[in-house]
This record gives sequence, structure tokens and C-alpha cells, in this order.
Amino acid sequence: MKVAVFSAKSYDRRFLAAVNGRHGHELSFFESKLNADTAQLAAGCDAVCVFVNDKVDAAAIDSLAKLGVTAIALRCAGFNNVDLAAAKRNGIAVVRVPAYSPHAVAEHTLGLILTLNRQIHRAYNRVREHNFDLQGLLGFDLHGKTVGVIGTGKIGVEVVKLFRGFGCRVLAFDVRENTLATEAGATFVSLDELYSSSRIITLHCPLTPETFHLIDADAIAKMSPGVMLVNSSRGAVIDTQAVIAALKAGRVGALAIDVYEEEELFFEDVSGQVLQDDQFARLLTFPNVLVTGHQAFFTEEALTNIAETTLSNLDDLQSGKDCANALIVAN
Ligand code: NAD
Repeated sequence: MKVAVFSAKSYDRRFLAAVNGRHGHELSFFESKLNADTAQLAAGCDAVCVFVNDKVDAAAIDSLAKLGVTAIALRCAGFNNVDLAAAKRNGIAVVRVPAYSPHAVAEHTLGLILTLNRQIHRAYNRVREHNFDLQGLLGFDLHGKTVGVIGTGKIGVEVVKLFRGFGCRVLAFDVRENTLATEAGATFVSLDELYSSSRIITLHCPLTPETFHLIDADAIAKMSPGVMLVNSSRGAVIDTQAVIAALKAGRVGALAIDVYEEEELFFEDVSGQVLQDDQFARLLTFPNVLVTGHQAFFTEEALTNIAETTLSNLDDLQSGKDCANALIVAN
């Protein structure tokens, strides 16, 4: 297939090119994000390949359909940026990579928690300035603490296992209880019990209308004072404004996020520009907030699996086979 790869970074080229020998697709790489204005770049292509910040809305999809594009291949798991109804209406197939390395995201989540709890990010800077003072670096033992995991799918289960390895008691909440989480040592409880009993709460559910702003002022009010909140799922699962208020009041004791409600900035170097997002700027001022720019997935193993599955999905569509990773099947 002729494929227009949008939001292409050097690492996308590297990992897709490395496996494409086995698939033989004709890949054209574009640094631009896909949106209604840039869709024209896909002229002459059968498929587009997109990532989390591409705006695959109805306008973009209508333009792609006019160009004769028949497939949208997401090189990620989440698909909240794609108007699936518009794709269906236009007879465009949508495929994704439902799993590529739950370990990558789970391990980054633990990395965030360990860094924030033991202030490793601050210690790194202090030591480089020959400041060996320990004031302000006090943490707590993870061992023996209660951790709440919301969403016990592929990533959540791996997170449960890691916390159990640290000797934590793990409470879990999911709309569908997963026996793998129980086998890994988690105990399913109500959301309210998880909120009130957990020293750390970590989010691993998808962004859906039900989980939008799941963590709002009401939810925070049910949590134990000083709770550490962690989000490596999707930004809008947390109401950022409510969390900022709770951080200022000391209700939330620490916040680690790999995702943010408005991720327009992410994946780009904007260090020479004035930051326009005041809410994000405020988050960066807190000593007890740690932010990474949606990098939890970013390991060699994950990028290899993403590339392989993305191109295999396109193989299936090309050969007319049923694609197990299809969200929308072409007409
Ligand atoms: P998954 O589909 O295997 O698991 C998601 C779980 O969330 C399921 O068990 C589901 O039942 C549960 N869930 C759905 N609605 C819920 C609700 N209202 N309350 C509680 N639980 C609910 O997905 P996964 O592979 O474990 O990934 C989880 C999320 O992590 C993805 O949706 C994606 O948004 C995010 N993610 C982030 C990165 C990153 O780099 N930061 C990478 C991959 C995935």
C-alpha cells in the first residue's frame, strides 16, 4: 500500500523502515500533523498512518475520502482523536495497535512514582550544583503502603505486579473486573473505598465519556489528604483545574503525569517559544509535580512492536483479510 505517515519523527522512520522490508509498503513520511488542512499531503496514497496528536476529525476524514484514502492506521492504542462515525460513513477502515508493550508504560509509571516520592529529579539538580543538603528530599517507603489502580487492563495488571513486588497492598477498580489482576495480588473494591484508602492512586483506564474528568473536585474530596496522584493514561481523565486547586490546598500531596488535557505542545521542541498555556505553566511551578511529555510508551521494544503491528494491519487490509485490530471495517 502507499502510505502517508503523518507526525513522523526520526524514530518513526527508523522503526517503520526497519520492519517494512517484510511488508513492502511504500511509505512517505511527513512531519506535519494530520488535520483537515494537511490531509492533501496524502494525495495518491491508499492509507494514512497517524499518532495521538493527529486531528482525525470528520473534516479531515472527508478530505481523505475525496482523495481515495481507504484506511487509517493508528500507530497507538488510544483512538479518542479519531471520528469513527465519520470513518464508517466514508467507508474508511480504521486499525490500531491495541498492545505493544504494557511493560513500557507500567515501568515508566513506577519510574515517575519513585522519582517523585524520593525527589530524584530535584536531587539530580542539587548534586550538579554541589548542594548535598537533604532538606526537602524526604520520601516514604513504598513497602507496606496501599496503592489504588484504576483500570486493570493490560497496563494496569503489569502495574499491579510491580507494586506487589515492592510489598504494597493493591486495591483495584475497573468496570470489568479482571481475574489476572486478582491473580497478580490486587483486591477489587468500590471506587470510593479505593479513593479513601490509597496512599497512591494511579490511572490506567481509557479516556471515554465516562472517564472524562473522573478525577474531579468531588473525587479528590474522597481521597486521603496528601494522596499521590499518577496519570499515564490520557490527560482528560483528570480535571487539571481541580487538581491544581487541590495541590495549592495540600489536599493532593504530589502529582505525576505523563499525559495532559491539552497535549498540543507534546512531541515538539518549543523551548524557544513563550508558553501560552497558563494552566500547564502553573503545573510546572509546583515542587511536588512531575511531568513527562507522553513518553511512557517510548521504548525500543514498544516502537518495534508498534511498527510491526501497524504494517501487519495494513497487510491484512491490502489482502482483504479480517484484521483483528480493526476498529472500523471498510465497506
Ligand atoms: P486496556 O484496554 O487493556 O485496559 C483498560 C482498562 O480500563 C480495561 O480493563 C477497562 O475495563 C478499564 N476501564 C474502562 N472504563 C473504565 C472506567 N470507567 N473505570 C475504570 N476502568 C475502566 O488498555 P491498556 O493497554 O491497559 O491501556 C490503558 C490506557 O493507557 C489506554 O487507553 C491509553 O489511553 C493509555 N496509554 C498511555 C500510553 C502512554 O504512553 N502514556 C501508552 C499506551 C496506553
